[in-house]
Amino acid sequence: MKPTLGPTVILDRQSEKRIDKDYMDSLVSAETSRFFVLAGDKAVVDSSQDRTKTHIHWFTAAEIADMGLAANEAIFLGIDPEDGTAKFAVATSEHYARGAPQAREALKNRVEVRTLATQGAIPQSELALAAQAISLGHWHENNRCCGRCGGSMNVKQGGWKRKCWACGYETFPRVDPVVIMAVTDGDHIVLAHEHRFPDKMYSTLAGYVEPGDDIVHAVRRETKEETGLDVGEVKLLGSQPWPFPHSLMLGCIAHAEHKELVIDAAEIEHAAWYSRMEANSMLTGMHSQELWLPGAQSMAHHLVKTWLSNDY
Ligand SMILES: [Zn+2]
Repeated sequence: MKPTLGPTVILDRQSEKRIDKDYMDSLVSAETSRFFVLAGDKAVVDSSQDRTKTHIHWFTAAEIADMGLAANEAIFLGIDPEDGTAKFAVATSEHYARGAPQAREALKNRVEVRTLATQGAIPQSELALAAQAISLGHWHENNRCCGRCGGSMNVKQGGWKRKCWACGYETFPRVDPVVIMAVTDGDHIVLAHEHRFPDKMYSTLAGYVEPGDDIVHAVRRETKEETGLDVGEVKLLGSQPWPFPHSLMLGCIAHAEHKELVIDAAEIEHAAWYSRMEANSMLTGMHSQELWLPGAQSMAHHLVKTWLSNDY
């Protein structure tokens, strides 16, 4: 399998040390530690004036305290191998970001991470960090109470575990695998516009892996459900974390055994077969009807580009 979208592991996560509470506390209070702030799906960033270059804004522990945020609930992302500093994420809410006078100025420059990802304005390594943090933030947001008894779940291990104070039930961050597939007959590719997509945006087909599926079965099942197509050979090209809310995209190329489309109208507004020339023009923003595909850092873009280059 080829690497896809750049490095995804850039910090030493030190998972074996997260159980050491004294060590984690010492990192949280260290002067050199840095904190990345999320408000819902938005990250606080520094952008160039024309917004073509964006970087994560790193706060100190003192700045986090000034903003009224709880550093002790920060999620430990890992140790930066370049300078040995600890990096954390602090997840707050959009409501807080708008309402807290002490934080308003510092949280002003927050941008949807999904937008950053589709525009390709942020370096891949930082996008991977943002993905890690947002995915964990969503998981915490949705696991405040115990799924077994309803009790409160306390944060443990630098934000990598929650444990019920009442019944002791433990839960760990999860990811939801999603298959995303370029369905092709060799010369043409199926691209779809879903109801929820922005105007004129098309993408490859995608769907959640269900219990009992393997990757090939999930690709065949989802393709059949969404387009009526039967798929033969399936190749896994690579994977990418996608933190909305906490998915792992499994990028595949799938060979269709016929071309008769029967579209699932509940999900898809329009889908069709497109030639290599048309797919290329959608990729490069030159399509005659202004149809477009997601940006360079998305798996859909990578799949279409790989198919066009025959490099798989
Ligand atoms: Zn419980």
